[in-house]
Amino acid sequence: MALDFDHTTPGDALPGSERRHDLKVVIRDPRHRHQRLLEQLRESEERFRTMADCAPVLLWMAEPDGLCSFFNKTWLDFTGRTLDAELGNGWAEGVHAEDFQCCMHIYLNAFVKRESFRMEYRLRRADGEYRWILDTGVPRYSPGGNFAGYIGSCIDISEMKAAHQTLAEMNDELERRVEERTTELQRSNDELQQFAYAASHDLQAPLRAIVGYTDLLKQRYTGQLDTDADEFISFIVESGKRMSEMINDLLAYSRAGSGELSFEPLNCNVALDHALENLSASIEESSVQIKRGDLPTVPMDMTKMTLLLQNLLGNAIKFRGAEAPIVEIGAEQDGGAWRFHVRDNGIGIAPAHVDRIFQVFQRLHTSEEYPGTGIGLAVCKRTVERYGGRIWVESEPGKGSTFFFTLPATQSVATEQTEPDHAAPG
Ligand code: ADP
Repeated sequence: MALDFDHTTPGDALPGSERRHDLKVVIRDPRHRHQRLLEQLRESEERFRTMADCAPVLLWMAEPDGLCSFFNKTWLDFTGRTLDAELGNGWAEGVHAEDFQCCMHIYLNAFVKRESFRMEYRLRRADGEYRWILDTGVPRYSPGGNFAGYIGSCIDISEMKAAHQTLAEMNDELERRVEERTTELQRSNDELQQFAYAASHDLQAPLRAIVGYTDLLKQRYTGQLDTDADEFISFIVESGKRMSEMINDLLAYSRAGSGELSFEPLNCNVALDHALENLSASIEESSVQIKRGDLPTVPMDMTKMTLLLQNLLGNAIKFRGAEAPIVEIGAEQDGGAWRFHVRDNGIGIAPAHVDRIFQVFQRLHTSEEYPGTGIGLAVCKRTVERYGGRIWVESEPGKGSTFFFTLPATQSVATEQTEPDHAAPG
């Protein structure tokens, strides 16, 4: 006989039970207690089995020796085999021959270390098709803390695998096509560069002859022909000179897009000194006031930077308005880049033209109004972009313009962002 405290209803109590305070003391037969425990155990096992069999995943359980002792109904339905056939190591017969070694290695290794594991393998389904399975196993322990084997769950990931595979294949195909197009573009770009260079270079010689001989004609025969003829000769000479200028500028544009890029640290203040020196005549003639801020050191080429600043400053002076011209130049750091600005109080640019002016030969005025060929800004854009930067303008007609350009502050950023170099004539 044993004394037991219970919360069962009075109807459950055996005869002889008595109440003490609020607790009911039940005097029980040990046989009856054993019976109840067995019933509870059976009930809990039944609950587990129902749950396991209804689960939409394949479940298995293994003993400490690694041999499997349980598979749920979902597993058995999937493989179409009997529980007896799957128990122990039987389940491994359904694993695809190519995955078997790796699968066993992971499984047995995890057992030795008593670690959780995840593995993917192909398992034969009842209809004979091998399906990709993601199997997750975790060690289990008895309430006393002893290792009791593993419990694992598996899901069919074949669809997901197939989707991944298709995605990877599409990605590969896309990359292949992009690479193909890039190579093609690169080649035609190189060809075009070489063609532009050769054409403009070779055009210079006959043009020089035309201009030279017409000049001779002008010198020797001015006044001997009629006035129309004198005028026509002058037109030919002027047009020839202009064409020569344009060809020279085309060559400069072609050069700006080719050749090695130098990334030596360049003190831009020195490049600015050179640019101002080259512009000294127009600075003096226009009485422009130049306000210069301190410029940074960036990985850049001296000649290219000088030309860049010279083009922008030259324009700022050339396109001055009625007011006394003031040109301001400076730079501010902006994250991993420096943002330069060249600001003027000149004639400004209408919003409709702010993008067009960076294209080759795009001008907003005739050469009689303002001299030039319309290639300076295209050269600036090409140079800045080759060095991984950007160039743009903000302007208000009649008030002035500010040209901005950025350049990477360090060589690592610069080399990352620059275009691949073109094998073109330098
Ligand atoms: P160019 O100076 O030889 O005409 P650019 O390519 O340097 O060629 O400039 C293209 C055009 O952009 C110029 O003809 C002019 O209309 C406009 N432009 C450039 N800079 C300025 C400026 N600072 N102010 C007003 N207009 C400008």
